[in-house]
Amino acid sequence: MTAQVLYAGEPDEWPDYQAELAAAFQRVGVDVSLRNAVGDAADIDYIVYAPSSPIQDFSPFTSLKAVLSLWAGVEAFRGNKTLTKPLARMVETGMIEGMVEWVLGHVMRYHLGLDAHVFGQDGVWRNDVTPPLARQRVVGVLGLGALGLAVAKQLRDVGFEVCGWSRTLKNERGIACFAGQAGLRDVLGKAEILVLLVPNTAETENLLNAETLALLPIGARIINPGRGPLIDDDALLAALDSGHISHATLDVFRDEPLPVNHVYWTHPKVTVTPHIASATRVFTACETIAENVRRGEAGEPFLHLVDRARGY
Ligand code: NAP
Repeated sequence: MTAQVLYAGEPDEWPDYQAELAAAFQRVGVDVSLRNAVGDAADIDYIVYAPSSPIQDFSPFTSLKAVLSLWAGVEAFRGNKTLTKPLARMVETGMIEGMVEWVLGHVMRYHLGLDAHVFGQDGVWRNDVTPPLARQRVVGVLGLGALGLAVAKQLRDVGFEVCGWSRTLKNERGIACFAGQAGLRDVLGKAEILVLLVPNTAETENLLNAETLALLPIGARIINPGRGPLIDDDALLAALDSGHISHATLDVFRDEPLPVNHVYWTHPKVTVTPHIASATRVFTACETIAENVRRGEAGEPFLHLVDRARGY
């Protein structure tokens, strides 16, 4: 049987996905008819989906076997009542590599104090500060999933003392792993640089608030490529203004694009990046999509399924 796959991602990316998906389906040996217009909704088996798609009502897709998200974060549509079929989020090697590189760059900026020389070209020969080595610096990573664990491993391999936190306790060589509320306090208590890579769920909203921010060492830095609602913005601004937190690099926000008059844009202790930490890469995303269609057609379990009860 030929599997019917609908591409419902960004229209301008359709030509790239059309070519790469066709090649990826061929590589995994699955017979697919791929299109980007709904036509007869009742004959579609899989939807390759971005939440920006006009498709918001999944009920006409009566034969649907799965929705394969192009996005890693699924909070925008995981609660859609018409979406009752399996939902897979995007986990792909290109996105993981991109996130590792982005976080590493921002960690190294803080670790080496690069700003002092990049922005301090005033003719004064300041050579009196020797930064600690990576192994003398503690980096905390909240979230040890597809992205957070890859980030934590890279930071460990550079030499940092890495402590990580997740819902279920992990066991990873060279990474001090923690779980639960007591574990969160342990990580926050020592993280000089803190990276947020947990999803946005009811449990993680305002994970960093006045109380938890106060647990961080004085002068700590925060890097948030996770999601905006993980941080209570007023609490962060207060902690920045008091000096308890010395700087924050924020890639994600409650409102995106970040409104032009938002205080973060001009705050001297905040770096804003426009949700670019890591994008889905077409060529590697197609490998994940093709593998999941192959699994669906072979009656095997899908990869990267969202657990609706957990919210991620
Ligand atoms: P993932 O594989 O689902 O991993 C999520 C991690 O967070 C897991 O380790 C999970 O714990 C942990 N977690 C979830 N809820 C928790 C809780 N209540 N307490 C403690 N730990 C909790 O997700 P991922 O693929 O790594 O992606 C993480 C997030 O990155 C996405 O949800 C998205 O918001 C964000 N993202 C951002 C960009 C960007 O460009 N800025 C790009 C891609 C993704 P368990 O391991 O125990 O399940």
